[in-house]
Amino acid sequence: AEKLLEVKDLRTSFFTHLGEVKAIRGVSFDVEKGEAIGIVGESGSGKSVTSLSIMKLLLYPGKIVGGEVWFKGENLANKSNKEMMNVRGNEIAMIFQDPMTSLNPVYTIGNQISEAIIKHQKLSKKDAHEKALEMLRLVNIPDPEKRINNFPHEFSGGMRQRAMIAIALSCEPDLLIADEPTTALDVTIQAQILKLMKDLNKKLDTSTMLITHDLGVVADVCSRVVVMYGGLIMEKGSSRDIYYSPMHPYTMGLLKSIPKIASDEKQRLIPITGTPPDLLNPPTGCPFYARCDFAMKVCNQEQPPYFKSENGKHEAMCWLLHPDAPKNEVYDSLKG
Ligand code: SF4
Ligand code: MG
Repeated sequence: AEKLLEVKDLRTSFFTHLGEVKAIRGVSFDVEKGEAIGIVGESGSGKSVTSLSIMKLLLYPGKIVGGEVWFKGENLANKSNKEMMNVRGNEIAMIFQDPMTSLNPVYTIGNQISEAIIKHQKLSKKDAHEKALEMLRLVNIPDPEKRINNFPHEFSGGMRQRAMIAIALSCEPDLLIADEPTTALDVTIQAQILKLMKDLNKKLDTSTMLITHDLGVVADVCSRVVVMYGGLIMEKGSSRDIYYSPMHPYTMGLLKSIPKIASDEKQRLIPITGTPPDLLNPPTGCPFYARCDFAMKVCNQEQPPYFKSENGKHEAMCWLLHPDAPKNEVYDSLKG
């Protein structure tokens, strides 16, 4: 399939008064045309910084210090802010966790969608209004003829997120980046929004990058998953491989902490204990060393390389995958 976005060895740091915080330390992945990909990790893993770097929305003192971001044949890492303004909104759109901060409280929902349409598609006011109605229907807002005149505070949280998606999609972007789009919503609404995102991804052929701390959330929406930790990619592969045959102990930990909604048992969340590494002084070895049940001596000394599955489509950064690694039965059983 055609690659829409290709991130190569991306490195981003924050130059604080304490020193250089290496938030992203060499991250590579791609997004195919029409594909939905999930970027998963805890807070501080570098997942949001990755998307902000791609969009060049990093705030001071954040700076891309290395790597390339290829998007439709151009390296965004070299683009000026002015050039990026054109890419943002027109070609890459972004939605965030809290729509209230992105929606303007003094304009109606309809006005805000129309405004985005007029700006990006150069339609007349009347046509833009029609198109705004169409967008509200597309994101399943009930009674759109009436709702188009509502203000953001008259919408529920789920409806506001739908309106944000409508605004983001009104510029017909090639890529939609959604950073924790459902985190602030309750579980039922969360599921509805994710279903909507999945349907729209299919219908509009817009590529989607879904950023979340919740591995359970991406299962249904994304065809591929990138798992981040300590500013690095720990594992990447198809959703199927990540769920059924995880290769990295961190991914195994994330899978254990997914609540089983369908099961009769009392929900049990098993968090991964410990805290993420200090990226002011990143570990020389595996970033997960301090929290890993399987850690070996080498893990603290040398950063593991990526080991690929036989078909080359699934890979993880872990010394246990080295052909000479000592056999570990617990790890092998979790690996599936
Ligand atoms: Fe654990 Fe070592 Fe693998 Fe890191 S490299 S995840 S510490 S086993
Ligand atoms: Mg974040």
